[in-house]
Amino acid sequence: MAFYLNEYDGKIPLIDEMTGLYKIGPFFRASETIYRKNSFKTFAMIQVDIYHFKIINEICGVAAADQLLLYIAGLVKRYTKHGGVAAHFRADVFVLCTSYENHEDLVNIITEIIDGISKYELPCKIIPTIGVCLIDNIEIEPHIFFDRTSIALHTIKGNMLNNYAFYDASEKERMLYESKIVHEMDHALKNNEFKVYIQPKVNILTEEIIGGEALVRWRHPQDGIVSPAKFIPIFEKNGIIMKLDEYVWENVFRMIGSWSAAGKKLVPISINISRMNAYSSDFADKIADFANRYNVNPRLVPLELTESAFLENSNDLYFLMNKLQKQGFIFSMDDYGSGYSSINMLRNIAVDEVKMDHAFLKGKMLSERTKVVLKYSIEMLNHLNTMVVAEGVETKEQVEFLKECNCIYAQGHYFYKPMPVEEFEKLVFHSSKENL
Ligand code: C2E
Ligand code: CA
Ligand code: CA
Repeated sequence: MAFYLNEYDGKIPLIDEMTGLYKIGPFFRASETIYRKNSFKTFAMIQVDIYHFKIINEICGVAAADQLLLYIAGLVKRYTKHGGVAAHFRADVFVLCTSYENHEDLVNIITEIIDGISKYELPCKIIPTIGVCLIDNIEIEPHIFFDRTSIALHTIKGNMLNNYAFYDASEKERMLYESKIVHEMDHALKNNEFKVYIQPKVNILTEEIIGGEALVRWRHPQDGIVSPAKFIPIFEKNGIIMKLDEYVWENVFRMIGSWSAAGKKLVPISINISRMNAYSSDFADKIADFANRYNVNPRLVPLELTESAFLENSNDLYFLMNKLQKQGFIFSMDDYGSGYSSINMLRNIAVDEVKMDHAFLKGKMLSERTKVVLKYSIEMLNHLNTMVVAEGVETKEQVEFLKECNCIYAQGHYFYKPMPVEEFEKLVFHSSKENL
């Protein structure tokens, strides 16, 4: 067997015994030599990974899965003939460094590998996934290119429409940003860096503030105010949104409790319930606990759930809503019209409020079709005695149109932007006679 000297371990084998391909260390050395010595040629690194290989192992058995690996090894080895090199990295992961003529040629290599693997016959479906990066700077070390192929692979995880992806530098930035803020989240919570802002909801006809929505902001010590649009989707991916939700809810219940204790005018402040929380078993108890602990009438904290959350597992959600509605909680369907609008849902369950998605009002001029959809959706909801709130209202024209449609409530920059609690309190309490 061939050996090479490793500076840490002494002698280690060059070649992976099972497949006859290089091991990853020797692969890095060999590929570096190849692309540096042949700088007149273009090279790419390709990482091949089998989706859910563990399942293939389980269903087809280890021996059959090993045969598949040998087959893949043979397949990738074909592309080393014209001065390339291939390695078996681990289990179902292979890496290839190969030269190519032009983009089309490279895509051909990739699709040949994908097709070759997909047609291998086993009792279960084999789905190859491939991450590709161009070796566009021969000064860069091979393990960096390898990391890039992993980043490219990461972008197609869970997306069964694409079997391969090219490395994109902005993707790396995005992943770094994601891991940075996930890492900072716990400390930020303890450090009170998350602040609850409130955006007033108004009666369009009287312009009176009839309530508000709690919207979180991150006052980051280095990055300044960070919008939830940036961090909420990331927290939703890994579940930490549940912690943040609870933090915001508690702040809102505490705040209303303190208004109540001080004899202030009480207006409802809605809270956002992320999908993960809506489906967690103790959500109803948590919310009811907060209402008890801070002595808040449930009616004062409407619960906003996005339209898409309603579609997921409606029966569980109906049960939960029913339980909370019996205790006096109010439900609001958020972002109505942004996805697959749940008209069926409106038939089956009495949501108390519907928020028309801001996308309806986007653009300078409302198209005739949009106007018809808005007008009749609002009319239908009015007939169902469901309160309708138009979101993202920015112009006088939009307000006039909403009035024509008998939409009475709105939230949007035309009236107020989200603001810190103290500002909201000034607005509401100072305009209220009993608190002057
Ligand atoms: P959302 O629940 O649909 O909240 C309304 C969003 O529209 C807010 O964005 C608000 O600032 C923005 N908005 C209001 N009026 C206008 C307008 O006239 N023009 C424009 N262009 N935008 C307007 P924000 O605060 O950036 O929040 C984005 C989303 O993040 C929210 O959408 C909500 O889904 C989520 N979010 C915010 N705070 C929380 C929270 O505490 N918990 C959870 N789970 N989600 C939250
Ligand atoms: Ca909302
Ligand atoms: Ca919304």
